[in-house]
Amino acid sequence: MRFETIAIHAGGRPEKTYGAVSYPIYQTSTFVFDDLGKTRGGFDYTRTANPTRKVLEDTIAQLEGGKAGFAFATGMAAETTVIHLLKAGDHIISGDDVYGGTYRLFQKVMSDFGLEFTFLRMDSRKKLEAAVRPNTRMLWLESPSNPLLNITDIEMVVAVARQHKLLTVMDNTFATPYLLRPIEYGVDLVVHSTTKYLNGHCDVLGGAVVTTTDDLSERVQFRLNAMGTGASPFDCWLVLRGIETLPVRMREHQVNAAAVADFLVKHPAVKKVFYPGLKSHPGHEIAKRQMKGFGGMVTFELNGGLEAVKGFVRKIKIFSLAESLGGPFSLAEHPATMSHASMPAEHREKAGITDGLIRLSVGLENIDDLIDDLRQALET
Ligand SMILES: *Cc1c(COP(=O)(O)O)cnc(C)c1O
Repeated sequence: MRFETIAIHAGGRPEKTYGAVSYPIYQTSTFVFDDLGKTRGGFDYTRTANPTRKVLEDTIAQLEGGKAGFAFATGMAAETTVIHLLKAGDHIISGDDVYGGTYRLFQKVMSDFGLEFTFLRMDSRKKLEAAVRPNTRMLWLESPSNPLLNITDIEMVVAVARQHKLLTVMDNTFATPYLLRPIEYGVDLVVHSTTKYLNGHCDVLGGAVVTTTDDLSERVQFRLNAMGTGASPFDCWLVLRGIETLPVRMREHQVNAAAVADFLVKHPAVKKVFYPGLKSHPGHEIAKRQMKGFGGMVTFELNGGLEAVKGFVRKIKIFSLAESLGGPFSLAEHPATMSHASMPAEHREKAGITDGLIRLSVGLENIDDLIDDLRQALET
């Protein structure tokens, strides 16, 4: 099966018992045993496993080309579970421009449990190798990154990881498996916030992990159950429904995002546009090589800094001032005070997240309406 078909049929859909085309929501906490030690299909308690969750997990695993998938209550629950594969004393090298919540989890929570972190722009093999310590166990990357849409050369990172026997984890939330399949480049674990494009409708929180070996699958499933981080059946059903239209939505998001980027580049109020599809983007060539498209996110910097941002966010009408991304609704957010507020100012500055930066999640509205809205909001 090809991508579009997997998105609709994976996990044994339509369901076999009654032929339900929309897979049922098994809204139950517990399952009847037929005899001591004898369950039906291996389901005994929903924290451990649930049929609706299983269909979603199988679907995401197949879309990513991995061994097994796991669905979590949120993207952060997925990340929390993955970081617990390590133990006190281990060192992790993370991208320096990862999602703000990832940075907060690592720096403000996991550091208290004896994990050590180095935050680094993974744009040079030398720099990355120099950061590896004897106790380094994991490389954590995100590409395109948030909010600057920096592109990381995955093959380079994987080469360093293999040489030093490190586990690679990639947050593939922004690209989705439709545009990028990190496992094809040798990444060990893929994580997602399914809250974003995979669900795609701004109506649920969810996370996912895709593994590449039986050992990793066992360890992730053990932690999902032990830590209670798994997703609820209803939430899984929503994400599953969203994934059915993922390819169609991604194609449309991209067309709109490219048009928005082209418009912004030419606008005099705009200082800089960050979109991997632009030839001027430093990661353009790598993105072209490793991705099937450039995605639906566009970030730009206004000439007037924070004051100009205040004017812009008050004027937008179709774009809403809101965090998150990946839904039909076009959203604009201000990383410095919103998504990346949990990052200290000094670290933000180092990562290039300035006060004049605005990140757009370009939605599925008519492109002319979106551009008209941006044009009127940029007028001074
Ligand atoms: C939103 C997001 C997360 C966190 O996901 P939640 O579902 O909000 O917990 C992690 N990584 C990236 C790239 C995100 O955009």
